[in-house]
Amino acid sequence: MPKPIPVRAKRVKEISALLDPKESKKRERRLNAHFMELDEKAEKREAYTSAILSANDESIEEIISAMVKSLAKMTTPPGNGEFVFEGTAYNLNEKEKQLRNSIQLRNRRWIAVRCLVACAELDIRIGNFKLPADKCARCGTPVGKPKKKAKAVKKKHG
Ligand SMILES: [Zn+2]
Repeated sequence: MPKPIPVRAKRVKEISALLDPKESKKRERRLNAHFMELDEKAEKREAYTSAILSANDESIEEIISAMVKSLAKMTTPPGNGEFVFEGTAYNLNEKEKQLRNSIQLRNRRWIAVRCLVACAELDIRIGNFKLPADKCARCGTPVGKPKKKAKAVKKKHG
């Protein structure tokens, strides 16, 4: 017979960790690091979004913002200031909320662009959207005319 998991004892330990100021400082550092990671990832994604959008006209920006609005409706209840990290919901201050919103916006723009790219690759035409001729549609890396640097670009692609 497996020993029953001492749920209560475990919970008591968790709660005392939550209340321990040393633990909470550590958690705050992890939370900040996590936030920064998300921001960096969103920044890379936005660079990709820009690379794909620069090959398209303004009508595609409109399509992207319509898709972003739908994605926002599907993912976040309106006016939610919470941020869940390691199973705990945190209230965010104004500055943190702005950062979270900016991360979400960049991520949603990226998802929308990825959808348009995926459709275009399947020959499904959405509006005037077209794949860039001079960049890789999967990652936004410039490709094209053979130059001295072309080899390095290809290598990066793997
Ligand atoms: Zn690529």
